[in-house]
Amino acid sequence: MEVDVLVVGAGPTGLTAAIECLRHGLSVRVVDKHIERQEGSKALVVHARTMEAFHAMGVAREIRSRGIPFAALNIFPDARPPAVRVPLGNDAGWGDTAFPYWLSTPQVDIERCLEARLHALGGRVDWAQGLLELHQDDLGVDARLATGTCRARWLVGCDGGRSTVRDQLGIQMDRRRDGQLFVLADVLTRDGFPEDEGRVYRSRKGLTLIVPMPELQRFRLIAHLPGRDEPPLLDADFIENLVFERAGVSLGAHSVDWTSHVLLSHGQSQEVRRGRAFLAGDAAHLHSPVGGQGLNAGVQDSHDLIWKIAAAERGVPNWLESYQVERTALTGRLVQAVTFATLVMTLRRWIPWVVTARAARLTLSTRFVQRQFARRMGMLEQRLPPGPGVDDTSWAGRRLPNPLVGDERLHDRVDPLRPCVLDLPEGGVVVVRPDRVVVGRYANRTAIPQRIRDLVPDLI
Ligand SMILES: Cc1cc2nc3c(=O)[nH]c(=O)nc-3n(C[C@H](O)[C@H](O)[C@H](O)COP(=O)(O)OP(=O)(O)OC[C@H]3O[C@@H](n4cnc5c(N)ncnc54)[C@H](O)[C@@H]3O)c2cc1C
Repeated sequence: MEVDVLVVGAGPTGLTAAIECLRHGLSVRVVDKHIERQEGSKALVVHARTMEAFHAMGVAREIRSRGIPFAALNIFPDARPPAVRVPLGNDAGWGDTAFPYWLSTPQVDIERCLEARLHALGGRVDWAQGLLELHQDDLGVDARLATGTCRARWLVGCDGGRSTVRDQLGIQMDRRRDGQLFVLADVLTRDGFPEDEGRVYRSRKGLTLIVPMPELQRFRLIAHLPGRDEPPLLDADFIENLVFERAGVSLGAHSVDWTSHVLLSHGQSQEVRRGRAFLAGDAAHLHSPVGGQGLNAGVQDSHDLIWKIAAAERGVPNWLESYQVERTALTGRLVQAVTFATLVMTLRRWIPWVVTARAARLTLSTRFVQRQFARRMGMLEQRLPPGPGVDDTSWAGRRLPNPLVGDERLHDRVDPLRPCVLDLPEGGVVVVRPDRVVVGRYANRTAIPQRIRDLVPDLI
């Protein structure tokens, strides 16, 4: 065996997988078909739950320093003022996370931070080594690469929406193409817009999002162009006019330094595991860019998968069975929610548009909904179903609460590498995984059932 894990693809999902392998003491090779990192801006928003994973990986501080947190999202449900201001800063009622914000950071900067961390841990990306073919047996996986071959005990396919790994494994993706055209542009502006607040204009001419970027007076524009299937020339004049027509405000656009477009499609692969090979990130699920969840979900896939592979290597293989059950349930719900939200935000027929605009104004103005909005979009309220890696008790499947206990947070007591048992400040114990998901909550250690003891044999 050449390596424990072969990671295919060096986007955010693959780099996370590679870092996690090294942190867990697994040897890893990470290959990418491109000759070097692609410079496109792509994803922009990092959520609280992803920052918690980055913290465990040792990159949160660096990524935080490259980004700016959002103070608020100003939503114009009918494209007219006043906005419904949804706070996302300290006043948002984030609760117990150490990362109470949405962080605007271009994907390329995130990838650079991750690659630097990979180097610091002694790893590197093998560029220009696209995977062409793979075969597996009971002991490992054989991969044919652009030049040469690699045999690994495990393989993780992080090779994006057009995944070769997925094709080679014969896994289908249930993919729906909506055909709706969204354009994206990084725009330099003169002045005027608040630098730390995002804006969402829900006009009948099309949905428009304006998101602050870390550099002063630079904003990301995301706009739905209904009825078109080819993007126009996205220059400063076009963008200025589009924003004015839809929102009645001047963006002050004077130049554009990155543009892209997507024809909406969303979907999920039918499986994320075949034998010793796994799928993670866009290879396993595709989202609309409106939800800002794709990169976040991919990082969390890898953060979840690698400790389970490490557990299997230590002789506790049962955790791996939970990857398929948990990720398909979680990303299935996520894809559905983002698809539904995109549909509502892009409604244009008069009556549904008016009704949903009024409903949005009413609900988004309440404190309870605003708090839920911050935490749910921040992925802090996810719940995994009971199954091979989650019991059926209270708290099970949820993120461990993270209150301050003395001068540290409860998450700081979680073993970063393997499942552990924690005594709770209020009494009782929890079995908690390195991804800070609660396996089960019990009255005391002896109340932990045998099935769960078998999963953490060296600890109880
Ligand atoms: C324009 C745009 C805007 C977006 N905005 C957001 C946003 O605001 N928020 C958000 O969360 N998400 C957003 N996304 C989605 C986000 O970019 C993706 O979800 C994210 O890049 C997925 O990461 P990944 O590592 O799984 O896949 P990718 O980033 O696609 O990386 C896959 C890697 O695999 C490599 N590869 C492919 N085939 C092979 C092969 N055969 N062998 C070896 N290597 C291979 C590729 O070269 C690439 O480096 C956006 C996407 C786009 C295109």
